[in-house]
Amino acid sequence: MPLALHSRVIKAAALVGSGLAAYTRTRRAGEVTLLGFHGLCENVGDLGILDWSLHLPVSGFRSICALLASDYRVISLADLLEARKHGTKLPDNAAIITFDDGYASNYELAYPILKKFGLPASIYVTTGFLGSEDMLWFQRVDLALGRTEKPTIDWKINGKKLRMLLVTREQRQQSLVRLIPELKELSDADLLHEVCRIEEMLGVKTPSANDLPQVMRPMTWDMAREMSASGQIEIGGHTHTHPILARCDSIAMRAEIFTCRDRIREELGAMPISFAYPNGGQDDFTHETMSLVKEAGFQAACSAINGRVDDQSSLFQLPRYGTPESIWEAEATLSGAYETLKDWRQSCLKAMSMI
Ligand SMILES: [Zn+2]
Repeated sequence: MPLALHSRVIKAAALVGSGLAAYTRTRRAGEVTLLGFHGLCENVGDLGILDWSLHLPVSGFRSICALLASDYRVISLADLLEARKHGTKLPDNAAIITFDDGYASNYELAYPILKKFGLPASIYVTTGFLGSEDMLWFQRVDLALGRTEKPTIDWKINGKKLRMLLVTREQRQQSLVRLIPELKELSDADLLHEVCRIEEMLGVKTPSANDLPQVMRPMTWDMAREMSASGQIEIGGHTHTHPILARCDSIAMRAEIFTCRDRIREELGAMPISFAYPNGGQDDFTHETMSLVKEAGFQAACSAINGRVDDQSSLFQLPRYGTPESIWEAEATLSGAYETLKDWRQSCLKAMSMI
C-alpha cells in the first residue's frame, strides 16, 4: 500500500476509533454526503494499467454499500432536488452515491450490489466514450507509458523538463503521476495534441476498443438504458470527450455540455437531471461553465470539492467526496468526522492569524 494511502487509512481509523465519527453522526445528521466513485475491479492485482486508483475492488464497494444500507439513508439526487424545491426535510444521515466516466464495471459489478441493497445512484457518463472506440485521454497516456518499449524519454511541458524513466512498473507509474497534472494544465486543444505526441514519441498506437484492458472499457448504451429504465439509476452528464471545462474556450465548452445532453436524451429518451464536472476541482469549472450547464437544462451539478451538502450549498457546485479507500474512510466521511476536523483546522488557523 502506498505511504500516502496508508496514512489516510490510519487517520480515518483514528477518527472512527476515537468516537468522533459516532459523535458527529448525531451532531451533523442534517447534512448530506455525496460519494464519488469511478470504476470497480474484481481485484487490484495486475489490471494491465498503471493507475488503478480509479477502480475500487468490488469487495470494498460491497462493504461500503453494506455500511450505507445499515447506518445511513441513501437517497437519489432527484430526492435532494425535490426537497430543495418543496422545502421539505431530508432523512437524517443521508448519502448519495455517484460514479463518473461511464465504465462497464458500473453495470457489471456495481449495479448488482446496488440492486441487492436497494440503493439508488447517479452515473455520470462521458457520452463520446460510451460504446465507442473513443478512449478517455488519460487512459491513452496510461497505456502509452505502460506499453512502450522505450526505456526513458525527456519531455518538455509547461516550461519544465521531465526525464521519465520507463523500465520498471514503478518507474512507469511515477512517470504517469508526474505527467498527468502537467497535462491537466494545458488548454483542451493543446492537451489532445500533446497526448498524440506522447503516443508517437513512445512508439505506441492508440489501442482499439477490443484491445483495451477490461477495467478501462466503457459501458454500452444498452447497459445505460437498462439501468435508467429500472428507475434506480440516474444517467447524468459528464461532457462528451472529458475535457477540463475551464481549459476550453466558450464554443468548445458549450459544445461539450450540449452534445452530452443531446446524446443522453437521444439514447435514453429523457432529459438527464444532473451533471458532474470532469476533474471537478475549484479551478476546473467557471461561472460560465455553471451557467451553460444550467442553460442546457441540467438541474444540478457535482464538483469534486470535498465537503457536505447543507441548505446553503449551491445546486450547481455540489461538494462531493472521492472514493473511500477503506471502510474507516467511508465511516469518517459519511459521519461528518472529516468535516468536523476540517472546521477545527480552519478555526485554529484563524485563531493563530489573530495572535
Ligand atoms: Zn471523469
